[in-house]
Amino acid sequence: MARYSVEVLIIRAAYCFPDYRFTNSAPTDVFQKSQRQKLHPPATMPSSDSENPSRPRLEASPEFMAELVAASELLEKADPIEVIRWASGRFGKRLTMATAFGPEGCLILHWLSSVAPDTFVFNLETGYQFKETLELRDRIRDRYGITVSYESPETTVEEYERKHGGPLYRTDPATCCGDRKIVVIERVLSNFDAWMSGIRRDQSPDRANAPIIGWDKKFGVVKISPLANWTKSQVWDKILQEDVPYNPLHDKGYVSIGCWPCTRAITDGEDERAGRWSGSEKTECGLHIRD
Ligand code: SF4
Repeated sequence: MARYSVEVLIIRAAYCFPDYRFTNSAPTDVFQKSQRQKLHPPATMPSSDSENPSRPRLEASPEFMAELVAASELLEKADPIEVIRWASGRFGKRLTMATAFGPEGCLILHWLSSVAPDTFVFNLETGYQFKETLELRDRIRDRYGITVSYESPETTVEEYERKHGGPLYRTDPATCCGDRKIVVIERVLSNFDAWMSGIRRDQSPDRANAPIIGWDKKFGVVKISPLANWTKSQVWDKILQEDVPYNPLHDKGYVSIGCWPCTRAITDGEDERAGRWSGSEKTECGLHIRD
């Protein structure tokens, strides 16, 4: 991997986002145009075998890490849509996005629809999601023309519970998340060089140091977090301002929403992730833990 100077990165950044203004103001006209987008054919997952057999997996070389650090610093004050534009320009079809249809994910999809609507976007469909979450997939498709791919474990919920003599989320949620989320995301990300997620630094101690652009050692790909330095209120202000579809459970006290057995509504004053795996030590499913 070639070493890139800061000058080269700036030139590359200028090429990728010529309208870059280093402000927090959003180009609203772009969003409004995106509201009536035609239905895009579902994006397909590139196969490293069929698409480019000779293409090696990314290597975490010192030069590449330096490029990521420089890009992350450069984009720290950029609008999230510019981060998405950079990611799409840099990784093209080797960029993917994972979403659980949380508010941050819906907002990123809102921007993605105007910047790179053909990006492969997926949801880890564990079989335990709320029906409101699953319905949001259809509302996203109707609004933005983007079809989020469901990526599922090899076993159905019924098969999985039969195999383990009952629901594992009650007795061993770490294994349940490992089997129904981590194994699946490893399989998907093996086809890509970079993934985008909607994590924010102020969500939890595990996420406090998340860079805008960084190396995800756990999965061996670049991780892009366009909303890392946004707050919850910034996200919701933008969602309401742009009329972005969101999960109706948020209006019933559910702040962070995952699988229904491991999610509850929270009360005033509770931490926003207190409703996840409530009553246990578990705070993360493992996707965003930095190894
Ligand atoms: Fe299983 Fe709960 Fe993890 Fe979903 S969140 S995969 S139900 S343990």
